[in-house]
Amino acid sequence: MSTTTTPGQPFFAWRQGQLHAEDLPVADLARRYGTPLFVYSKASMLAALAAYQRGFAGRKSKICYAMKANSSLGVLQVFAQAGCGFDIVSGGELERVLAIGGKAADVIFSGVGKTRVEMARALEAGIGCFNVESESELEVLAEVAGAHGCTAPVSIRVNPNVDPKTHPYISTGLKGNKFGVAHERTLAAYRRAADLRGLRVVGIDCHIGSQITDSSPYLDAMDRVLDLVDAIEAAGIPLQHIDFGGGLGIDYQGVQPPAADQLWAQLLRKLDARGYGDRELMIEPGRSLVGNAGVCLTEVLYLKPGEQKNFCIVDAAMNDLPRPAMYEAYHAILPVAPRDAAEARYDVVGPVCESGDWLGRNRDLAVQPGDLLAVMSAGAYCMSMASNYNTRPRPAEVLVDGGHAHLIREREQPADLMRGERLVG
Ligand SMILES: *Cc1c(COP(=O)(O)O)cnc(C)c1O
Repeated sequence: MSTTTTPGQPFFAWRQGQLHAEDLPVADLARRYGTPLFVYSKASMLAALAAYQRGFAGRKSKICYAMKANSSLGVLQVFAQAGCGFDIVSGGELERVLAIGGKAADVIFSGVGKTRVEMARALEAGIGCFNVESESELEVLAEVAGAHGCTAPVSIRVNPNVDPKTHPYISTGLKGNKFGVAHERTLAAYRRAADLRGLRVVGIDCHIGSQITDSSPYLDAMDRVLDLVDAIEAAGIPLQHIDFGGGLGIDYQGVQPPAADQLWAQLLRKLDARGYGDRELMIEPGRSLVGNAGVCLTEVLYLKPGEQKNFCIVDAAMNDLPRPAMYEAYHAILPVAPRDAAEARYDVVGPVCESGDWLGRNRDLAVQPGDLLAVMSAGAYCMSMASNYNTRPRPAEVLVDGGHAHLIREREQPADLMRGERLVG
Protein backbone atom coordinates (compact mmCIF):
# COMPACT_ATOMS: atom_id res chain seq x y z
CA MET A 1 0.00 0.00 0.00
CA SER A 2 1.18 3.52 -0.69
CA THR A 3 2.36 5.88 2.00
CA THR A 4 1.90 9.63 1.67
CA THR A 5 3.07 12.46 3.90
CA THR A 6 2.89 16.23 3.85
CA PRO A 7 6.16 18.13 3.33
CA GLY A 8 7.19 19.10 6.85
CA GLN A 9 5.65 16.15 8.69
CA PRO A 10 7.28 12.81 7.85
CA PHE A 11 6.16 11.29 11.17
CA PHE A 12 2.51 11.73 10.19
CA ALA A 13 1.81 9.47 7.24
CA TRP A 14 -1.22 7.99 5.50
CA ARG A 15 -0.93 4.21 5.30
CA GLN A 16 -3.79 1.92 4.21
CA GLY A 17 -5.83 5.06 3.71
CA GLN A 18 -5.49 6.15 7.36
CA LEU A 19 -3.43 8.90 8.92
CA HIS A 20 -0.89 7.55 11.42
CA ALA A 21 1.18 9.31 14.05
CA GLU A 22 4.34 7.21 14.06
CA ASP A 23 2.92 3.66 14.32
CA LEU A 24 -0.59 4.50 15.53
CA PRO A 25 -3.71 5.23 13.46
CA VAL A 26 -4.89 8.60 14.76
CA ALA A 27 -8.55 7.62 14.33
CA ASP A 28 -8.04 5.12 17.18
CA LEU A 29 -6.72 7.93 19.37
CA ALA A 30 -9.72 10.11 18.53
CA ARG A 31 -12.05 7.26 19.47
CA ARG A 32 -10.23 6.70 22.73
CA TYR A 33 -9.68 10.29 23.84
CA GLY A 34 -12.33 12.24 21.92
CA THR A 35 -11.98 15.35 19.76
CA PRO A 36 -10.65 17.98 19.41
CA LEU A 37 -7.40 16.21 20.25
CA PHE A 38 -3.79 17.26 19.91
CA VAL A 39 -1.52 14.40 18.85
CA TYR A 40 2.25 14.82 18.99
CA SER A 41 5.11 12.68 17.72
CA LYS A 42 8.06 12.34 20.06
CA ALA A 43 10.33 11.12 17.23
CA SER A 44 9.48 14.26 15.28
CA MET A 45 10.51 16.50 18.19
CA LEU A 46 13.77 14.62 18.61
CA ALA A 47 14.48 14.74 14.86
CA ALA A 48 13.99 18.52 14.84
CA LEU A 49 16.29 18.85 17.83
CA ALA A 50 18.87 16.57 16.20
CA ALA A 51 19.18 18.98 13.26
CA TYR A 52 20.30 21.70 15.67
CA GLN A 53 22.57 19.29 17.54
CA ARG A 54 24.26 18.31 14.25
CA GLY A 55 24.63 21.99 13.41
CA PHE A 56 26.44 22.63 16.71
CA ALA A 57 28.50 19.43 16.82
CA GLY A 58 31.91 20.14 18.34
CA ARG A 59 30.90 23.61 19.61
CA LYS A 60 30.31 24.89 23.10
CA SER A 61 26.57 25.37 22.81
CA LYS A 62 23.31 25.22 24.71
CA ILE A 63 19.89 24.80 23.14
CA CYS A 64 17.21 26.39 25.29
CA TYR A 65 13.77 25.31 24.07
CA ALA A 66 11.51 28.37 23.98
CA MET A 67 8.70 26.70 25.85
CA LYS A 68 5.97 29.21 25.11
CA ALA A 69 5.62 27.35 21.78
CA ASN A 70 4.27 24.34 23.67
CA SER A 71 4.69 24.22 27.42
CA SER A 72 2.86 20.98 28.24
CA LEU A 73 4.79 19.06 30.86
CA GLY A 74 5.13 15.91 28.74
CA VAL A 75 6.66 17.96 25.92
CA LEU A 76 9.07 19.66 28.30
CA GLN A 77 10.18 16.25 29.58
CA VAL A 78 11.08 15.14 26.05
CA PHE A 79 13.38 18.13 25.63
CA ALA A 80 14.84 18.02 29.14
CA GLN A 81 15.71 14.33 28.71
CA ALA A 82 17.35 15.18 25.38
CA GLY A 83 19.61 17.70 27.14
CA CYS A 84 17.87 21.00 26.41
CA GLY A 85 17.63 23.98 28.68
CA PHE A 86 14.60 26.26 28.56
CA ASP A 87 13.87 29.83 27.52
CA ILE A 88 11.02 31.08 29.70
CA VAL A 89 8.96 34.26 29.53
CA SER A 90 7.05 34.14 32.82
CA GLY A 91 7.16 32.91 36.38
CA GLY A 92 4.50 30.38 35.43
CA GLU A 93 6.81 28.84 32.86
CA LEU A 94 9.55 28.59 35.50
CA GLU A 95 7.17 26.59 37.71
CA ARG A 96 6.59 24.22 34.79
CA VAL A 97 10.35 23.63 34.41
CA LEU A 98 10.66 22.98 38.14
CA ALA A 99 7.61 20.68 38.04
CA ILE A 100 9.36 18.33 35.61
CA GLY A 101 12.56 18.39 37.66
CA GLY A 102 14.35 20.56 35.07
CA LYS A 103 17.59 22.24 36.06
CA ALA A 104 17.14 25.89 36.96
CA ALA A 105 20.74 26.58 35.91
CA ASP A 106 19.71 25.71 32.34
CA VAL A 107 16.90 28.27 32.33
CA ILE A 108 17.11 31.68 30.72
CA PHE A 109 14.39 34.23 31.42
CA SER A 110 13.29 36.49 28.55
CA GLY A 111 10.47 39.02 28.32
CA VAL A 112 9.93 42.77 28.55
CA GLY A 113 7.79 42.83 31.66
CA LYS A 114 9.29 40.68 34.40
CA THR A 115 7.80 41.53 37.79
CA ARG A 116 9.77 41.80 41.02
CA VAL A 117 8.03 38.67 42.27
CA GLU A 118 9.06 36.72 39.17
CA MET A 119 12.64 37.97 39.47
CA ALA A 120 12.86 36.97 43.13
CA ARG A 121 11.51 33.48 42.47
CA ALA A 122 13.93 32.99 39.55
CA LEU A 123 16.85 34.13 41.73
CA GLU A 124 15.83 31.74 44.52
CA ALA A 125 15.59 28.90 42.01
CA GLY A 126 19.03 29.82 40.67
CA ILE A 127 18.32 30.30 36.97
CA GLY A 128 21.20 30.57 34.51
CA CYS A 129 20.54 34.00 33.03
CA PHE A 130 18.11 36.90 32.89
CA ASN A 131 17.75 38.23 29.36
CA VAL A 132 17.12 41.85 30.27
CA GLU A 133 15.11 43.92 27.82
CA SER A 134 15.40 47.51 29.08
CA GLU A 135 17.61 49.80 31.09
CA SER A 136 14.95 50.24 33.76
CA GLU A 137 14.71 46.47 34.14
CA LEU A 138 18.46 46.42 34.93
CA GLU A 139 17.89 48.77 37.86
CA VAL A 140 14.97 46.77 39.26
CA LEU A 141 16.76 43.44 38.87
CA ALA A 142 19.85 44.81 40.65
CA GLU A 143 17.63 46.01 43.49
CA VAL A 144 15.80 42.67 43.83
CA ALA A 145 19.09 40.75 43.73
CA GLY A 146 20.55 43.09 46.36
CA ALA A 147 17.56 42.51 48.63
CA HIS A 148 18.16 38.76 48.29
CA GLY A 149 21.86 39.10 48.97
CA CYS A 150 22.84 37.62 45.63
CA THR A 151 23.90 38.72 42.17
CA ALA A 152 21.78 38.16 39.08
CA PRO A 153 23.45 36.76 35.97
CA VAL A 154 22.43 39.00 33.07
CA SER A 155 22.50 39.21 29.33
CA ILE A 156 21.06 42.22 27.55
CA ARG A 157 18.68 41.56 24.71
CA VAL A 158 19.67 43.87 21.91
CA ASN A 159 17.37 44.94 19.14
CA PRO A 160 19.52 44.62 16.02
CA ASN A 161 16.98 46.46 13.85
CA VAL A 162 16.85 43.89 11.07
CA ASP A 163 13.71 42.95 9.20
CA PRO A 164 12.95 39.23 9.63
CA LYS A 165 10.47 39.49 6.71
CA THR A 166 7.72 37.73 8.61
CA HIS A 167 4.23 38.64 9.87
CA PRO A 168 4.31 42.05 11.65
CA TYR A 169 2.84 40.53 14.84
CA ILE A 170 5.72 38.07 15.12
CA SER A 171 8.59 40.33 14.10
CA THR A 172 10.46 41.52 17.16
CA GLY A 173 13.83 42.87 16.05
CA LEU A 174 12.82 46.12 14.34
CA LYS A 175 13.14 49.61 15.79
CA GLY A 176 9.39 50.00 16.29
CA ASN A 177 9.11 46.81 18.39
CA LYS A 178 8.80 46.79 22.16
CA PHE A 179 11.56 44.17 22.47
CA GLY A 180 15.20 44.57 23.43
CA VAL A 181 17.52 47.52 23.96
CA ALA A 182 18.16 49.71 20.91
CA HIS A 183 21.47 49.07 19.16
CA GLU A 184 22.66 52.64 19.90
CA ARG A 185 21.88 52.32 23.62
CA THR A 186 23.45 48.90 24.10
CA LEU A 187 26.96 49.92 25.12
CA ALA A 188 25.64 52.40 27.68
CA ALA A 189 23.32 49.71 29.06
CA TYR A 190 26.24 47.28 29.43
CA ARG A 191 28.30 49.93 31.22
CA ARG A 192 25.43 50.45 33.62
CA ALA A 193 24.98 46.70 34.15
CA ALA A 194 28.69 46.29 34.88
CA ASP A 195 28.49 49.08 37.47
CA LEU A 196 25.45 47.75 39.33
CA ARG A 197 26.48 45.64 42.31
CA GLY A 198 23.57 43.23 42.15
CA LEU A 199 24.33 42.19 38.57
CA ARG A 200 26.91 39.97 36.89
CA VAL A 201 27.19 40.35 33.11
CA VAL A 202 27.40 36.94 31.45
CA GLY A 203 26.22 37.35 27.87
CA ILE A 204 24.38 39.08 25.08
CA ASP A 205 21.28 37.99 23.22
CA CYS A 206 18.89 38.85 20.43
CA HIS A 207 15.73 37.38 18.97
CA ILE A 208 14.49 38.98 15.77
CA GLY A 209 11.13 37.35 15.19
CA SER A 210 9.31 34.15 14.44
CA GLN A 211 8.46 31.97 11.42
CA ILE A 212 11.57 33.25 9.62
CA THR A 213 12.02 31.38 6.34
CA ASP A 214 15.20 32.96 5.04
CA SER A 215 18.77 32.90 6.35
CA SER A 216 19.68 36.49 5.46
CA PRO A 217 18.00 38.17 8.48
CA TYR A 218 19.99 35.83 10.76
CA LEU A 219 23.26 36.65 9.02
CA ASP A 220 22.51 40.38 9.27
CA ALA A 221 21.55 40.10 12.94
CA MET A 222 24.72 38.15 13.71
CA ASP A 223 26.86 40.89 12.17
CA ARG A 224 25.05 43.55 14.16
CA VAL A 225 25.35 41.61 17.42
CA LEU A 226 29.05 40.84 16.87
CA ASP A 227 29.72 44.54 16.21
CA LEU A 228 28.28 45.15 19.66
CA VAL A 229 30.32 42.34 21.22
CA ASP A 230 33.45 44.02 19.80
CA ALA A 231 32.46 47.34 21.36
CA ILE A 232 31.35 45.93 24.74
CA GLU A 233 34.50 43.88 25.21
CA ALA A 234 36.66 46.81 24.07
CA ALA A 235 35.03 48.70 26.95
CA GLY A 236 36.38 46.04 29.33
CA ILE A 237 33.20 44.02 29.84
CA PRO A 238 33.77 40.36 28.91
CA LEU A 239 30.87 38.27 27.60
CA GLN A 240 30.83 34.52 28.20
CA HIS A 241 28.03 33.59 25.87
CA ILE A 242 26.29 34.85 22.77
CA ASP A 243 22.63 33.93 22.36
CA PHE A 244 21.13 34.26 18.88
CA GLY A 245 17.52 33.61 19.89
CA GLY A 246 15.03 31.47 18.02
CA GLY A 247 12.60 32.19 15.24
CA LEU A 248 13.37 29.64 12.56
CA GLY A 249 10.18 28.90 10.65
CA ILE A 250 8.57 25.65 9.60
CA ASP A 251 6.91 24.57 6.38
CA TYR A 252 3.19 25.26 6.79
CA GLN A 253 2.34 25.75 3.12
CA GLY A 254 5.14 24.89 0.72
CA VAL A 255 7.50 27.67 1.87
CA GLN A 256 10.61 25.88 3.05
CA PRO A 257 12.83 27.56 5.60
CA PRO A 258 16.49 26.52 5.71
CA ALA A 259 17.17 23.33 7.67
CA ALA A 260 18.58 24.10 11.13
CA ASP A 261 21.89 22.33 10.47
CA GLN A 262 22.40 24.13 7.16
CA LEU A 263 21.47 27.51 8.60
CA TRP A 264 23.94 27.00 11.43
CA ALA A 265 26.71 25.84 9.12
CA GLN A 266 26.31 29.21 7.38
CA LEU A 267 26.14 31.19 10.62
CA LEU A 268 29.09 29.38 12.16
CA ARG A 269 31.24 30.23 9.13
CA LYS A 270 30.54 33.88 9.80
CA LEU A 271 31.15 33.47 13.50
CA ASP A 272 34.48 31.76 12.85
CA ALA A 273 35.47 34.39 10.31
CA ARG A 274 34.86 37.08 12.90
CA GLY A 275 36.89 35.25 15.53
CA TYR A 276 34.06 34.25 17.88
CA GLY A 277 33.87 30.56 16.96
CA ASP A 278 35.00 29.27 20.35
CA ARG A 279 32.53 31.35 22.37
CA GLU A 280 29.69 29.58 24.19
CA LEU A 281 26.67 29.79 21.89
CA MET A 282 23.06 29.68 22.94
CA ILE A 283 19.88 29.54 20.90
CA GLU A 284 16.20 29.63 21.81
CA PRO A 285 14.23 27.71 19.20
CA GLY A 286 10.53 27.12 19.81
CA ARG A 287 8.34 26.58 16.77
CA SER A 288 11.00 24.76 14.75
CA LEU A 289 11.25 22.06 17.46
CA VAL A 290 7.55 21.34 17.93
CA GLY A 291 5.45 22.94 15.17
CA ASN A 292 5.57 20.03 12.79
CA ALA A 293 5.52 17.47 15.60
CA GLY A 294 1.79 17.91 16.14
CA VAL A 295 -1.64 17.76 14.54
CA CYS A 296 -5.07 18.60 15.92
CA LEU A 297 -7.83 16.10 15.20
CA THR A 298 -11.33 17.46 14.82
CA GLU A 299 -14.66 15.93 13.85
CA VAL A 300 -16.89 17.34 11.14
CA LEU A 301 -20.19 18.28 12.81
CA TYR A 302 -22.20 19.80 9.99
CA LEU A 303 -21.92 20.76 6.35
CA LYS A 304 -23.72 23.99 5.61
CA PRO A 305 -23.97 24.85 1.92
CA GLY A 306 -24.49 28.54 1.16
CA GLU A 307 -25.05 30.87 -1.74
CA GLN A 308 -21.57 32.38 -1.58
CA LYS A 309 -19.73 29.86 0.54
CA ASN A 310 -20.01 26.39 1.91
CA PHE A 311 -19.15 25.91 5.52
CA CYS A 312 -17.65 22.82 7.05
CA ILE A 313 -18.38 23.16 10.77
CA VAL A 314 -16.00 21.20 12.98
CA ASP A 315 -15.67 20.69 16.73
CA ALA A 316 -12.33 22.53 17.04
CA ALA A 317 -12.40 26.32 17.12
CA MET A 318 -10.37 29.49 17.48
CA ASN A 319 -10.05 28.88 21.21
CA ASP A 320 -8.20 25.61 20.48
CA LEU A 321 -6.30 26.82 17.39
CA PRO A 322 -5.92 30.60 17.64
CA ARG A 323 -3.32 31.14 14.89
CA PRO A 324 -5.68 31.59 11.91
CA ALA A 325 -7.82 34.15 13.78
CA MET A 326 -4.79 35.94 15.25
CA TYR A 327 -2.37 36.02 12.32
CA GLU A 328 -4.47 34.77 9.38
CA ALA A 329 -2.10 31.82 9.60
CA TYR A 330 -2.42 28.88 7.26
CA HIS A 331 -2.70 25.30 8.49
CA ALA A 332 -3.27 22.47 6.04
CA ILE A 333 -6.53 20.65 6.92
CA LEU A 334 -6.67 17.09 5.63
CA PRO A 335 -9.04 14.14 6.00
CA VAL A 336 -7.78 11.45 8.36
CA ALA A 337 -9.28 8.80 6.04
CA PRO A 338 -9.58 10.35 2.57
CA ARG A 339 -12.80 9.48 0.69
CA ASP A 340 -12.85 8.59 -2.94
CA ALA A 341 -15.53 11.18 -3.75
CA ALA A 342 -15.98 14.55 -5.38
CA GLU A 343 -14.58 17.49 -3.44
CA ALA A 344 -16.39 20.71 -2.66
CA ARG A 345 -14.91 24.00 -1.54
CA TYR A 346 -15.44 24.92 2.12
CA ASP A 347 -14.49 27.40 4.76
CA VAL A 348 -13.62 25.22 7.75
CA VAL A 349 -15.04 26.94 10.84
CA GLY A 350 -15.58 26.19 14.52
CA PRO A 351 -18.58 26.56 16.83
CA VAL A 352 -17.43 29.80 18.52
CA CYS A 353 -19.71 32.81 18.14
CA GLU A 354 -17.28 35.02 16.20
CA SER A 355 -16.86 35.50 12.46
CA GLY A 356 -13.13 35.33 13.16
CA ASP A 357 -13.59 31.71 14.18
CA TRP A 358 -12.23 30.00 11.10
CA LEU A 359 -9.49 27.41 10.75
CA GLY A 360 -9.09 27.40 6.99
CA ARG A 361 -10.64 29.16 4.00
CA ASN A 362 -11.46 27.81 0.56
CA ARG A 363 -10.41 24.24 1.22
CA ASP A 364 -11.34 21.51 -1.25
CA LEU A 365 -12.56 18.56 0.75
CA ALA A 366 -14.58 15.40 0.25
CA VAL A 367 -16.13 15.08 3.70
CA GLN A 368 -19.29 14.02 5.51
CA PRO A 369 -20.46 14.75 9.06
CA GLY A 370 -18.71 12.38 11.45
CA ASP A 371 -15.46 12.39 9.44
CA LEU A 372 -12.21 13.30 11.14
CA LEU A 373 -9.98 16.08 9.85
CA ALA A 374 -6.38 16.73 10.86
CA VAL A 375 -5.29 20.32 11.25
CA MET A 376 -1.63 19.92 10.34
CA SER A 377 1.49 21.55 11.81
CA ALA A 378 -0.33 22.24 15.07
CA GLY A 379 2.43 21.49 17.57
CA ALA A 380 3.49 25.10 18.21
CA TYR A 381 1.50 28.09 19.43
CA CYS A 382 -1.77 26.16 19.39
CA MET A 383 -2.36 24.41 22.73
CA SER A 384 -0.11 26.92 24.50
CA MET A 385 -2.30 29.76 23.18
CA ALA A 386 -5.60 27.95 23.63
CA SER A 387 -8.25 29.67 25.73
CA ASN A 388 -11.57 28.83 27.31
CA TYR A 389 -13.57 31.37 25.31
CA ASN A 390 -17.22 30.35 25.07
CA THR A 391 -16.53 28.19 28.15
CA ARG A 392 -14.98 25.59 25.91
CA PRO A 393 -12.79 23.14 27.81
CA ARG A 394 -9.36 22.82 26.24
CA PRO A 395 -8.54 19.63 24.32
CA ALA A 396 -6.65 16.60 25.54
CA GLU A 397 -3.09 16.01 24.33
CA VAL A 398 -1.47 12.70 23.41
CA LEU A 399 2.24 12.11 22.88
CA VAL A 400 2.94 9.19 20.57
CA ASP A 401 6.21 7.30 20.95
CA GLY A 402 6.41 4.53 18.36
CA GLY A 403 3.44 2.30 19.11
CA HIS A 404 2.65 3.86 22.50
CA ALA A 405 0.25 6.69 23.21
CA HIS A 406 0.82 8.72 26.38
CA LEU A 407 -2.06 10.89 27.47
CA ILE A 408 -0.08 13.96 28.57
CA ARG A 409 -3.07 16.18 29.32
CA GLU A 410 -6.63 15.20 30.12
CA ARG A 411 -9.45 17.00 28.42
CA GLU A 412 -10.67 19.84 30.62
CA GLN A 413 -14.13 19.61 32.14
CA PRO A 414 -16.53 22.52 32.64
CA ALA A 415 -16.00 22.18 36.41
CA ASP A 416 -12.27 22.88 35.87
CA LEU A 417 -13.21 26.12 34.17
CA MET A 418 -15.40 27.28 37.05
CA ARG A 419 -12.93 26.37 39.79
CA GLY A 420 -11.97 29.47 41.72
CA GLU A 421 -15.13 31.36 40.80
CA ARG A 422 -17.41 32.52 43.62
CA LEU A 423 -21.12 33.23 43.69
CA VAL A 424 -21.98 36.68 44.99
CA GLY A 425 -24.07 35.61 47.96
C1 LIG B 1 9.13 33.30 21.29
C2 LIG B 1 10.57 33.45 21.56
C3 LIG B 1 11.48 32.52 21.05
C4 LIG B 1 11.07 31.37 20.17
O1 LIG B 1 10.60 31.78 18.92
P1 LIG B 1 10.22 30.68 17.83
O2 LIG B 1 9.79 31.47 16.65
O3 LIG B 1 9.13 29.85 18.37
O4 LIG B 1 11.46 29.88 17.56
C5 LIG B 1 12.81 32.65 21.38
N1 LIG B 1 13.23 33.68 22.16
C6 LIG B 1 12.38 34.61 22.66
C7 LIG B 1 12.91 35.69 23.51
C8 LIG B 1 11.03 34.52 22.36
O5 LIG B 1 10.20 35.44 22.86
